[in-house]
Amino acid sequence: MFDIIISGGTVVDGTGSPGIRADVGINGERIESISDLSQAGARRVIDATGLTVSPGFIDSHAHSDGVLLWDPQHANGIRQGVTTEILGQDGLSYAPLSPDNYRTYRRYLSGILGEPPEDLDMSSVEAFRSHYHKKVAINTAYNVAHGAIRLETLGFTDKPLVGDALEEAKRLVREGMEQGAVGFATGMSYHPNAWSDTAELVELCKVVAKFGGVYTTHLRDVNTDRGFGGGQVPEALEIGRQSGVKVHFSHYRTQASNAGQVAERMELIDKAKAEGVDCTLELYPYPTGSSFPLSFLPSYAHEGGPDAIMERMKNPSERVRIIDHLEASQARPLNEAVFTYLGKNKDLEGMSLPDVAAEKGSSLAETLLDLLIEEDGQICYRGAPPESVKTWQQISRDCVEFLSRPDYMVGSDAIPIGSLPHPRAYGCFPRFLGRLRRQFPILTLEGMVQRMTDNPARRFGITDRGRIEKGYFGDVVVFDPDHIIDNATYDDPTQFPTGIPFVLVNGQVAVDTERCTGVLAGHAVP
Ligand SMILES: [Zn+2]
Repeated sequence: MFDIIISGGTVVDGTGSPGIRADVGINGERIESISDLSQAGARRVIDATGLTVSPGFIDSHAHSDGVLLWDPQHANGIRQGVTTEILGQDGLSYAPLSPDNYRTYRRYLSGILGEPPEDLDMSSVEAFRSHYHKKVAINTAYNVAHGAIRLETLGFTDKPLVGDALEEAKRLVREGMEQGAVGFATGMSYHPNAWSDTAELVELCKVVAKFGGVYTTHLRDVNTDRGFGGGQVPEALEIGRQSGVKVHFSHYRTQASNAGQVAERMELIDKAKAEGVDCTLELYPYPTGSSFPLSFLPSYAHEGGPDAIMERMKNPSERVRIIDHLEASQARPLNEAVFTYLGKNKDLEGMSLPDVAAEKGSSLAETLLDLLIEEDGQICYRGAPPESVKTWQQISRDCVEFLSRPDYMVGSDAIPIGSLPHPRAYGCFPRFLGRLRRQFPILTLEGMVQRMTDNPARRFGITDRGRIEKGYFGDVVVFDPDHIIDNATYDDPTQFPTGIPFVLVNGQVAVDTERCTGVLAGHAVP
């Protein structure tokens, strides 16, 4: 007698092996049998005839740290078949933080993580994990966040971590790893992270390496003079070389300016891999990104944290300096920004910055500053997709080509806040598995599933997950391989995908016939 039998489907087990016809029997939280169970009884039988039965997808990069705390159902993730998300991304998260620092960073990050309750205990990684364990629909893993570590040691101060502050930071990273973090993450476009130098990151990563953890990095494009080789890829590789840590590149792909240049993008990384640097990468299948525009401000403007930032934006002479910086910045083209989320001005969601500026009769930079002040920084944006469909298609093809490499996995970079978010929050996984797999048949179904399951599980040490295997946790997705497709678009981004009727998390049915069940069975893993 089983609790659940998933019968008649083709089991694609996550390892990349060819699918096999088999029934899957689940008891309690775990998979107990993969065989012919036609004679066995079960409290619930899910008919998967004609469908694929695969391990639940592991999202190697999601910004749900805040959202999950007020929306534990997490429909945008679970309806895609995502059963585990790795948080703490870009070093932008809440642990470990003292109560005061939690309130400060919560406010600073409200444009990307939203506004979770203000009175939560985030003083340790253990406390952080307790807010999600068996309280949300998906499993969560955590990267110790570089931003939190710097806040706890130096606050919003432009100084490298050295001496006692560095020792304290190392202690906090060690404690986080001991309490179950899978690694350490940073984003070097953001603050206080970008005030670090390569030497600081090498020292912190030596601690991570001792635990076999992963260094996940959004590459440096701010204060590039402080990074080995000018930041970017050379710095990340040097950190791997000097510390021995496993390096993982966040959202590493092509965009309109370098579409088609897959080999060129990989050249330095492949060379370092041949020399023994342990590298993996992740990406999402869209041509533009999304983030919070508070990060557009020049590095010095972040000193002192939210109150000081607001003062600076209001001060007439400082304001001129900031506007000059915004207008000169090549890396953050203001004319391509489209608002996805604003704390107060909901009516501006979906409008581009140029449209809002024209309406207000003001420049792009001035409009953005005025909005940042009015919203207390709580704004998210995405980039506008290329006008050329041909370019867009090339980027899509590049994405599948990257993913065909065995060192690649999928990370949605989802920011599921606002009424018109970047569509990746609702469509990333089915877009790869349905639309792009059919359009660009470079990778088999089994290969693609492996990149979404076993690959991230092994890389991040998420035990007993990522495979349909006896004894593994019952994280399972049942989908229709011929019809699975994303429906979220840039102009209608909160549409759920189709072709994913059932999702199980820890042996419990979380999505039943394309409907969320309300079951909150996710564990804080590993
Ligand atoms: Zn991110």
